[in-house]
Amino acid sequence: MKRRNFLGLMGAAGVATVLPTKAQAAGNVHFEGYPGSKGVLFDATRCIGCRKCEEGCNEINGLAKPEQPFSDLSVLDTKRRTENEAYTVVNKYEQPEGGSVFSKIQCMHCMEPSCGSACFVKAFTKQPSGAVTYDESVCVGCRYCMVACPFEIPTYTYNDPITPKVIKCHLCEPHISTGKVDAPGCVNKCPKEALVYGERDDLIKIARNRIEAHPELYVDHLYGEHEVGGTSWLYLSGTPFNQIGMREDLGTTSGPELNSSALSVVAMVPALWPLLLAGVYGITKRTDKIAKKEKAEAVAQAIKETQDKANSDMKAAMERARNDKEATVKREVTKAVEEALKAAEEEANGEKEEEGA
Ligand code: SF4
Ligand code: SF4
Ligand code: SF4
Repeated sequence: MKRRNFLGLMGAAGVATVLPTKAQAAGNVHFEGYPGSKGVLFDATRCIGCRKCEEGCNEINGLAKPEQPFSDLSVLDTKRRTENEAYTVVNKYEQPEGGSVFSKIQCMHCMEPSCGSACFVKAFTKQPSGAVTYDESVCVGCRYCMVACPFEIPTYTYNDPITPKVIKCHLCEPHISTGKVDAPGCVNKCPKEALVYGERDDLIKIARNRIEAHPELYVDHLYGEHEVGGTSWLYLSGTPFNQIGMREDLGTTSGPELNSSALSVVAMVPALWPLLLAGVYGITKRTDKIAKKEKAEAVAQAIKETQDKANSDMKAAMERARNDKEATVKREVTKAVEEALKAAEEEANGEKEEEGA
């Protein structure tokens, strides 16, 4: 379904008819991954924070040169996130025991991508190659994917109000599938072999071998093997992952399942679409009457108003969802403590009986 057709459908039938049910969006079968699918192993113990991977990504994807050149490592003093002209960034993490460790971030290419399950026009596809690709021709800019992604990766071209799109690393799928390169631009540019491209199953073996051969170097954990149901990017580290900016609270539940409650939270985003469409279509109908520039400004204003409302509603809803989660955690902790107390009490009673006997 092309963006134009989708908008037509929305206008004709109303937004509710095309929204997925919560069950459809969440999915209920764990996906182990396509056989032979590829991924990348990042080894933080080898990374020197040279930013060559950023440069390789920038070059292969024809992105605009950054304000500060890639040779300027002072940018590492500030924590950065991916952005429209940077599908990947390297950050520096000072360690409590001294020294720094560098870590690269980009889309993790989840086995069961939350962005995909949250997207009601199916703009994201987990490819047999391992890449999670994005089709901007169907994207309606609702930003569901941005809210759903547990790694906060997708960014959005806010500066393009007419045809905005979501931006993220595509695992170099367009370049590899056409034979332009045999590995991602970032991998090819890394001078330290901190990045290895290959079949995910092989990468898991390589990682395990490294941990086994050098237990003094590595934390005994391969990040991404099981997190959120598994990801095609895998991480090795010599320090706890939360000390290199990785979330350790995600668990092994797949992204879509994890987001099933968040989806009900963000369901209000497409619910706002009629508001946006009313604005956009009202303006479009008057195409002949208003100058192109005025039209662009009016569309931008309609989008901004809708997004402002979405942001404020979403903030409130996310707060409610957070409280829900906290309540669940509290309940489980209380349950665990009660059970532990009960077990201790039973043990103590048993000992008393033995003493009395
Ligand atoms: S890391 Fe985020 S954007 Fe990338 S596949 Fe997973 S959910 Fe989607
Ligand atoms: S895989 Fe390709 S798109 Fe993704 S960070 Fe590396 S070079 Fe950039
Ligand atoms: S190119 Fe390699 S060593 Fe340099 S920052 Fe990127 S991952 Fe680290």
